[in-house]
Amino acid sequence: MEEDVYKLIIIGSGPAAYTAAIYAARAELSPLVFEGFYAGPTGGQLMTTTEVENYPGFPKGVTGPELMTAFREQALRFGSTCKQEDIVSVDVSSRPFLVRTRKQEWKTHALILATGATARRLDIPGAGEGEFWQKGVTACAVCDGAAPLFRNKDLYVIGGGDSAVEEALFLTKFGKRVFLVHRRGELRASKIMQERALSHPKLEVIWHHVPVKVEGDHVVRSITLEHVETKQQVTKEAAGLFFAIGHTPNTEFLGGQVALDAHGYICVEPGSSRTNVEGVFAAGDVQDPIYRQAITAAGSGCMAALDAERWLSELRLGA
Ligand SMILES: Cc1cc2nc3c(=O)[nH]c(=O)nc-3n(C[C@H](O)[C@H](O)[C@H](O)COP(=O)(O)OP(=O)(O)OC[C@H]3O[C@@H](n4cnc5c(N)ncnc54)[C@H](O)[C@@H]3O)c2cc1C
Repeated sequence: MEEDVYKLIIIGSGPAAYTAAIYAARAELSPLVFEGFYAGPTGGQLMTTTEVENYPGFPKGVTGPELMTAFREQALRFGSTCKQEDIVSVDVSSRPFLVRTRKQEWKTHALILATGATARRLDIPGAGEGEFWQKGVTACAVCDGAAPLFRNKDLYVIGGGDSAVEEALFLTKFGKRVFLVHRRGELRASKIMQERALSHPKLEVIWHHVPVKVEGDHVVRSITLEHVETKQQVTKEAAGLFFAIGHTPNTEFLGGQVALDAHGYICVEPGSSRTNVEGVFAAGDVQDPIYRQAITAAGSGCMAALDAERWLSELRLGA
């Protein structure tokens, strides 16, 4: 039987959502989790990766899908209900809150938003799923940079902002040379980051170019760059292509009802998961422009469940 008003609905299915569900279910809040269907891979971004080597507790590594299946099973074990449906809109203007799928409307006293962020990529031949995505093409240097595939090889980072420069500098620990490919003639990164990049002996900036093609055999072997004005193309030996052109937080379904920062991330009170709407909490990459890791997403999911539980208890809605 479906409940009339849920104590807690969680939207999302990555490490943040499932961790929130584990904590909330163990606190007897019987959370209902909307895991998404078309909105993104059920299980979140880690479903698109192979080895995860930095998640604590797995000294030999674990694949992204294995890790997320275990997260989900643990959430179900304590009594969460999971539905593979998208939330298309919410109404948080009065309580109980309403959340809507394409077919139905649901009521809840508290809401946790954990819908993640999507790393932007360029749609160029060779870089997609089923081609060289995760076989040399990636969107996360911190996650993948230390892989043997990239050691002592030429690596290409695409972008010109602070995160692109950070990723390029990080990759200098592993690559033979790192090339930062930028379509403009100057970087958008802060002055200090630019100075660090431009003076690094292993890092070179390739100005006024964009990638147009990735080729290889079972892994990436080369990248073709095109000059934005002359359209002249050049093919270079490469083992890695790292997109660092930003992330899009998945917040469209909120319809502007929860405060976002200038880049679309949900604003939370520092040190908490509280948004500007009382009873609405946010966790994971959707509120984190800085760290964007599975462990930080999981940690903030725990915070959101504890914050929600305390808030419901204060209003005597948690029993
Ligand atoms: C290729 C790649 C490799 C990575 N490797 C690592 C790694 O090795 N180690 C590491 O720590 N981090 C890694 N990361 C980063 C890590 O995946 C993220 O930091 C983490 O998954 C963020 O978790 P999250 O819970 O915020 O949400 P996400 O994992 O982004 O999941 C959110 C999910 O919510 C669902 N959703 C979205 N909108 C809706 C909606 N409207 N209704 C219902 N459901 C919705 C979708 O299913 C979406 O997939 C990697 C990322 C990528 C892209």
